[in-house]
Amino acid sequence: MQAASGKTFEVIYPATGEIIGFGAAGDAEDVDRAVAAAVEAQKPWAKMRARDRGKLLYKCAEALEQHVEELGRLIALETGKALRTESRVEASILADAFYFHAGLGSELKGETVPHHPDMLTITVREPIGVVGAIIPWNVPLLLMALKIAPALLAGNAVIVKSAEEAPLTVLRVCQIMNSVLPAGVFQMLSGFGPECGAPLVAHRQVGKVTFTGSVETGKIVYKTAADKLIPVTLELGGKSPMIVFDDANVDKAVDGAVIGMRFTRQGQSCTAASRIFVHDKVYDDFVAKLRAKVDAMVMGDPLDEKTDIGTIISPEQFSKVQGYIDHGRKEPGAKPIECSAMPSDPKFKDGLFVRPVVFTEIGHDSKLAREEIFGPVTCIFRWSDRDQVLAAANDTEYGLAATIWTNDLQAALSFTEKLEAGFVQVNQNLVVQPGLSYGGVKNSGLGKEATLEAMLEHFTHKKTIIFNKT
Ligand code: NAD
Repeated sequence: MQAASGKTFEVIYPATGEIIGFGAAGDAEDVDRAVAAAVEAQKPWAKMRARDRGKLLYKCAEALEQHVEELGRLIALETGKALRTESRVEASILADAFYFHAGLGSELKGETVPHHPDMLTITVREPIGVVGAIIPWNVPLLLMALKIAPALLAGNAVIVKSAEEAPLTVLRVCQIMNSVLPAGVFQMLSGFGPECGAPLVAHRQVGKVTFTGSVETGKIVYKTAADKLIPVTLELGGKSPMIVFDDANVDKAVDGAVIGMRFTRQGQSCTAASRIFVHDKVYDDFVAKLRAKVDAMVMGDPLDEKTDIGTIISPEQFSKVQGYIDHGRKEPGAKPIECSAMPSDPKFKDGLFVRPVVFTEIGHDSKLAREEIFGPVTCIFRWSDRDQVLAAANDTEYGLAATIWTNDLQAALSFTEKLEAGFVQVNQNLVVQPGLSYGGVKNSGLGKEATLEAMLEHFTHKKTIIFNKT
């Protein structure tokens, strides 16, 4: 795939700094071309039976499933995420998201509305037209699938804009899908945000934008979309609390913290359990066990099956994370615990590896405790008063995810009700899955993804039709 300008950008393997490929640096001209092709392709696509579109999505899922290993290795190379713990898992969930949405065709139905005996009033669901999907680099395959599969099933044409750090795997997915789908229905653009993402959002024939990324960019996207009065879905950042009660199973909670913090992904997760509140009575036990667990994790070659933890995505992100860690070290009283060990192989001497850091005895108002770091850094706080810990957990601009660890049913019910987050779990820390409504409140976003309801709400218009029977 080439940009109209012929310009390209380098794609780097973050574990070694080697150039592994080039992305096409798309711009407004490429956006115009892609939208023109999408407008043409969408008309016959929307006329197909929804269940036939579903059949094609099912075939996409089967084709993607056959390429799990290839896609897993490619995503490991461009993001530095470990193959066994992260990249292969993500490549498998990609197909799952298509399987889930493929079966929803018959649900694109309307209603009959008994508003007057002399009239037959019905509603029908129509596709929006051309959808622009903008994705980040941290879990590009899963996040892409949760946007494109429902949008396509609903009869839209979709143009996805990959993140500049990770265009190669998305391109490969596009090639695989286009061996199944009619031309123009699903296209991909790679390029930088202002040059390629912004014109996609602003294009007059793009009728819906679905975006996942930072709050800062989300607001820019929202403002541009507001000028066109088009609907937008925003999945943004997080600073998710994890609350461990004194009666919790500490071993289970520690496992939950390791998964929740996504140390295996160097903490580059929007739902990362980056604020852990542990009851005073189990605090020391929890911290010791967490340290032992993270210490035992192997950081190193992302492609090695023995590796648990890969790298940070880019030098910019690496400096940002290091900046937070350095800042935290200088906070009065803060006790950082560095875990795991740097890879010893000299091949990885320039790799973007950061040792996971657990900050204890750090203030609630520290910027480490308030800002999204997007790195392997978590803060642990002691608590003993339920009202105070609830207030502290909710004292954030974000509202994406939260977990509670307790066997006290009343406490669990009360906290799930009062926590300000879109995805709350008790005694477990599942990752996002097709079929479970996913999305944040407050600055974490606008709108949900991954369900039938989300498909209907975000990728169709409801039209009311009234027949006068008299
Ligand atoms: P980012 O906002 O920098 O970039 C996201 C995408 O937006 C990229 O494709 C980028 O090229 C594009 N973009 C940048 N400027 C743009 C503009 N002016 N107009 C249109 N598009 C533009 O985010 P990132 O650094 O790639 O990803 C990390 C962020 O994503 C974190 O804040 C993380 O919490 C968030 N995230 C959220 C979720 C979720 O589901 N809520 C999931 C993953 C990541």
